[in-house]
Amino acid sequence: MIEMNETATEEGEVEAPYRLASARLTPGERSVLDVDGRKVGGDNFTLIAGPCAVESREQTLATARVVRDAGASFLRGGAYKPRTSPYAFQGLGREGLRLLAEAKAETGLPIVTELTDMRVIEEVLEVADVVQIGARNMQNYPMLAEVGRSGRPALLKRGLSSTLDELLMAAEYILSEGNPNVILCERGIRTFEPAYRFTLDLMAVPVLKQRSHLPVIVDPSHAAGRRDLVLPLSVAAAAVGADGIIVEVHPNPDEAICDGPQSLRADEFAEYARAVEDAAALAGKALAVGEAAALA
Ligand code: PEP
Ligand code: MN
Repeated sequence: MIEMNETATEEGEVEAPYRLASARLTPGERSVLDVDGRKVGGDNFTLIAGPCAVESREQTLATARVVRDAGASFLRGGAYKPRTSPYAFQGLGREGLRLLAEAKAETGLPIVTELTDMRVIEEVLEVADVVQIGARNMQNYPMLAEVGRSGRPALLKRGLSSTLDELLMAAEYILSEGNPNVILCERGIRTFEPAYRFTLDLMAVPVLKQRSHLPVIVDPSHAAGRRDLVLPLSVAAAAVGADGIIVEVHPNPDEAICDGPQSLRADEFAEYARAVEDAAALAGKALAVGEAAALA
């Protein structure tokens, strides 16, 4: 039977428009990524946490320490920010990358940071253990192919109005360049509902897992746009089987330059992490810890 996401070739063979991303490639098997000894996928639940944007040395290091101590296994933070308004803070750029490298050296946390522009790919790859491809670049095909060729693990966010199959075809652009290290991320989609920033599509988690062997994580922060929704959405995402969460945290969200209203308060992060860990256990997953943390 030909399913909705498939086409028949002239020879009559059934062919999905994505092949390497398809669950059919490895029936029953799930990809587990290993980034610097940090696992993503399988029975692991991976917490990726940090500020929306790198703003200063103090803010970045303080957040990194807090999230590491609470069990996060990656530090997120944007040095280059894709902003809706050209007048909004665009990130510290090269200096931001330098601060992320310093935070990694101090805490041991691998870095997740966004590539917004092909012209800075080399400097981003110097620091990014995982390259984030933002929702707005999900269909930037030359960028996807270049990240594919780099071999660097990629965190690929679903476009604001993209279908799940479009997300999987975007992943295919990375995979088909010989880079198997792709993490899919549901971050909320545009719907007619204006009460929150985006609509978090939690059905995407089980359905992506049916269609693909790739790990699937959830970003509750950008979906909600509001701090009060971040914990309940995170718990729901963990319980529905997400392989992890990427979440925004700030030592002083009221003073944040970027996305303060949705950022968790750093001093509440440990409690948040425990609630999410408990929810992940419902789906049979345990918090992924790095080798350094496991030895401590
Ligand atoms: C982000 O993670 O900082 C971000 C801009 O996310 P998105 O691409 O999902 O909007
Ligand atoms: Mn943000």
